[in-house]
Amino acid sequence: MSSEIKKYDVAIVGAGISGTSLLYTLSNYTNINKIVLIEKNREVALVNSHKNSNSQTLHFGDIETNYTLEKAEKVDRAASMVRNFLLKNDLQQQSYSKYNKMVLAVGREETEELRNRYQQFKQLFPKLKLIEREEIQAIEPNILTGRDPGEDVNALFTDEGYTIDFQKLSELFLEQSRSQPEKTIDLMMGTKVKKIEKDGDIYHIETEGEAIAAKVVAVMAGAHSLLLAKSLGYGKDFALLSVAGNFYLAPGVLNGKVYTMQLKKIPFAAIHGDPEVRDRSQTRFGPTAKAILMLERGNYATVAEYFQTAGLSLAAFQSFFKILSDPAIWRYMLRNLVYDIPAIGKALFLQEVRKIVPSIKFKQLKFAKGYGGIRPQIVNLKTKTLDLGEAKIIGDRILFNITPSPGASTCLQNAECDAEKIVYFLGQDCAFDRYKFLQDLEIESDRSAIVSL
Ligand SMILES: Cc1cc2nc3c(=O)[nH]c(=O)nc-3n(C[C@H](O)[C@H](O)[C@H](O)COP(=O)(O)OP(=O)(O)OC[C@H]3O[C@@H](n4cnc5c(N)ncnc54)[C@H](O)[C@@H]3O)c2cc1C
Repeated sequence: MSSEIKKYDVAIVGAGISGTSLLYTLSNYTNINKIVLIEKNREVALVNSHKNSNSQTLHFGDIETNYTLEKAEKVDRAASMVRNFLLKNDLQQQSYSKYNKMVLAVGREETEELRNRYQQFKQLFPKLKLIEREEIQAIEPNILTGRDPGEDVNALFTDEGYTIDFQKLSELFLEQSRSQPEKTIDLMMGTKVKKIEKDGDIYHIETEGEAIAAKVVAVMAGAHSLLLAKSLGYGKDFALLSVAGNFYLAPGVLNGKVYTMQLKKIPFAAIHGDPEVRDRSQTRFGPTAKAILMLERGNYATVAEYFQTAGLSLAAFQSFFKILSDPAIWRYMLRNLVYDIPAIGKALFLQEVRKIVPSIKFKQLKFAKGYGGIRPQIVNLKTKTLDLGEAKIIGDRILFNITPSPGASTCLQNAECDAEKIVYFLGQDCAFDRYKFLQDLEIESDRSAIVSL
């Protein structure tokens, strides 16, 4: 272990899609000269940003019926940034595929609801079309094969669907961050941050290897962000509901993405079918949603960290009890637990998949072993409610991002917001060329558009 302390202007903890997009933004669009990215794994984006961990979808809010119009407006701007970055920088399409996508409504109530939604959303998404049975048949024949011809169906459809390998995108961000010879951009892989301590104007970052000091710290460590925040006295009013998601694979039964209508009162996205990124011959169905007591999926060392993060306070117990005792959520969570029982679970999940592909057979569906990360949903201990979407905690020259879905879609917008904060922390000599950042991403520069998601 070296005794020399490495000094930086900014230290970023965590090299998933959030950490790498921030590094890209700071290194290319600010005059910050010394930045370090610290990651506990040997490669970038092996946790929730890995392609097997998430649904690989660039969420614009057009077919996600769990989003309000207001949320869709914010997400649309954010997702457009990622799409425009990819169209410009990934000409070989190594990290994404473009597919059709639709949200399918089944039955009188859902089809009526979708018609109303179309009226509300068509201005924001001019490419969105309301399609009926004949057009669905032409685009996704398997949706109608074996379906009762008398059943009402319609869909909102667009050809603007992007499926993204967010790990590959993280690698691209990294590559484009390190092409600045005049700057020091260090990468410390295989380096776990054990502790962060504030000493006057400097943060000391303790790792298993070298000691690091930084003027500003950005913690982009997924669920671990809240653990590190709490160790510094921040985020005391928050706990986490770690929602793991499983997937099932089937041979290519869909040509594009097919979402289903949001279940009433359920805060998690309804099950959808998606072609694998760069492999149309496989369709992935999911995700399921089950609460687990870990900060990282499959990493049992994080069970103790989960309890440290949740806090074993009365407020935490009351909050979890209040959230999970809602009959709709309880039934939903129970059903998701049953999905884990061999054979029975698969048979139950098959019923969900048949809402999309009625003729799919039990043997066509295969549990995707090792797939699915966690969505760290914020539990607000003051209001005793589940706060959906990302959370940002801003401290004294330190910030923490906790990123459930659609955190990968919003990574560049999040980085924009964090870059503004970081240059402010560093003082007058430091600047973020936000105009150029937005110009390069072909996004209108409107000051009011900086939004916290
Ligand atoms: C089932 C599921 C489906 C989803 N579907 C979508 C989707 O379709 N579209 C979408 O936009 N989003 C989706 N999401 C959400 C998306 O995957 C996340 O929002 C996103 O990947 C978060 O990225 P991140 O970089 O913040 O976190 P992560 O990718 O989790 O990265 C955090 C990094 O921090 C590192 N780290 C943690 N602690 C330390 C430490 N102490 N020291 C050093 N390093 C540390 C980790 O090793 C990791 O590399 C989904 C999530 C799940 C679970």
